[in-house]
Amino acid sequence: QTKVINSHIYGMNFANLKPKQIKMNKIISICLMSFFVLTACAQEEKPNTETSRKPNIEKTEAEWKAQLTELEYEVLREEGTEKPFTGEYVDWKKEGVFVCKACGNPLFSSDTKFKSGTGWPSFFDHLGDSSVAEVADNSYGWNRTEVECWRCGSHLGHVFEDGPDPTGLRYCINSVSLEFQEK
Ligand code: FE
Repeated sequence: QTKVINSHIYGMNFANLKPKQIKMNKIISICLMSFFVLTACAQEEKPNTETSRKPNIEKTEAEWKAQLTELEYEVLREEGTEKPFTGEYVDWKKEGVFVCKACGNPLFSSDTKFKSGTGWPSFFDHLGDSSVAEVADNSYGWNRTEVECWRCGSHLGHVFEDGPDPTGLRYCINSVSLEFQEK
């Protein structure tokens, strides 16, 4: 009975083999399976370590264009910057959470918003591990850190190290990349 079950599991016919050969075949099968599992795991990890983080939401640019206004698309999908002091949330003082305009992912709390005088909504912290991703941005010869939505990869703004306590960080975020949800 055991032999029949084993041959079914490993897809091999053990019926005509001696006990010693069966044992050897089992060992080889297990080694082969372990090898394939390990190889599969290694391949899965590769994209995350070699390139920037892959967004969890992937849409075609045509789909984003249909969903967003022209300015939102330019900022969120083409890494543009809105003109300073033009955004809806620059002097916003209500209590609540700012979510990604493209996908609704919670990004910043009003508790961490501060008056920076830059003309863009500024925060000294984000909401947590799955809110934003920080990516090196060397465009225009500047050495800046870009802030993206962790979930959809859309561009939000940049983070600088001249912010207030307790973090010393300043997340300089485009208003059009955000949507406010009142508490
Ligand atoms: Fe998003």
